[in-house]
Amino acid sequence: MKPFAYQRPTDPAAAVTTVTGDADARYLGGGTNLVDLMKLGVEQPRTLVDVTGLPLDEIVYGDTGLRLGALSRNSDVAAHPYVRTHYPLVSQAILAGASGQLRNVATTGGNLLQRTRCTYFMDTGKPCNKREPGSGCAAREGEHFNHAILGATAHCIATHPSDLVVALAALDARVDVLGTDGSREVALADFYLPVGDTPDHETALGHGELITAVLLPRPPVGARSTYRKVRERASYAFAIGSIAALVRVDDGVLVDVRLALGAVASHPWRARQAEAALNGSEPGLEAFEAAAEAELAAAEPLVDNAYKVPLMRELIVSTLAELTEVSR
Ligand code: SF4
Repeated sequence: MKPFAYQRPTDPAAAVTTVTGDADARYLGGGTNLVDLMKLGVEQPRTLVDVTGLPLDEIVYGDTGLRLGALSRNSDVAAHPYVRTHYPLVSQAILAGASGQLRNVATTGGNLLQRTRCTYFMDTGKPCNKREPGSGCAAREGEHFNHAILGATAHCIATHPSDLVVALAALDARVDVLGTDGSREVALADFYLPVGDTPDHETALGHGELITAVLLPRPPVGARSTYRKVRERASYAFAIGSIAALVRVDDGVLVDVRLALGAVASHPWRARQAEAALNGSEPGLEAFEAAAEAELAAAEPLVDNAYKVPLMRELIVSTLAELTEVSR
C-alpha cells in the first residue's frame, strides 16, 4: 500500500477545508470499501481525513421524517425502533447486505459512496474506464454476469453494489452536503450522475464536499413497503437483482407507487415507467406485468447478464403481488 498521511479532525468545516485543498485527499469513514481499494492500489490517496470523530452520527426523527447522520452505523440504523416501525424497508435492506461485523462499522454516508465491485475495476492490470479513463472496458467482452442492463453505455456497464441506497431511492431521500461555501441538499435522484462517456464521474459531489446526513420524508400514511434481494447465496453476497417497493391502495386503486431497482444500473434505478403505469390502476397481475414490461423495455443486456431481464420482471410482479395481497 502506498504511504499516506492521516488526520483526524473534530470539526466538519476543518475536514472539508483539508480535503478541498488537497486533490489527493480522501475522507475515511467506516473504511469497509476504501481500505480494500487502497490495498489493491485502486485508490492511492496522499492524505486520509478520518471523519469518524465528527459529530455526525445522530439518528433524529419527527413529524417531517428521519435524519440519518452520515456517520450513523448501519447496525444502529437497522436496529433503531423508529426506523423499523416507519421505514421497515431501510432495516430490511441493511440486514440483507454484508455481514454483522461490516454493518457495525459501515456508515450511512459511506454506503452512498460505495464503488462498484466490477472485477476489472479492482484489478489494476486490466483496462477500465472508471478507474483509468480512456483505457477501455474489459467487462463488455469479459465477465459481466452481474453487470448493468439499464442506463449503461459502451464506456461502462458497472452496477452500484448497495442494498441500502436502493431503499433510500424508493423513499425519495435527500442528501445533506457540506462544502467550503456552506451546506446544500441534493435529491438522491440527482446525486448519481448518468454514465455517459465519463463513468469515473459518479456523483454530484464536488471534491471536498462532505455528506453530513441523509434525509427521509415520512412515507404516506397507509403505505406498505418492502425490500427484496436476489443473490447467489443466502448471506454475505451482493445482489444480482433487488427491489425496494412502496405502494398504497386507496379506494381500490394504486397510489403513491414507488419502485427502485438494485444491481441493474450504475446507481439505484428508480422505475419511473412502471410507477407511471401503475399509479391509478387497480392492483392485479396483468397491471403488474405490464408495468414491469414498460420499465424493462429499455433494458440492453449482454450475453451473460440477459437473465436479469426475466429475473427483474418476476421480482417486480411478485413484490407488487405480495404488497397488495394479489394471489398468483
Ligand atoms: Fe471498468 Fe465499468 Fe468496464 Fe467494469 S464495467 S471494467 S468498472 S468501465
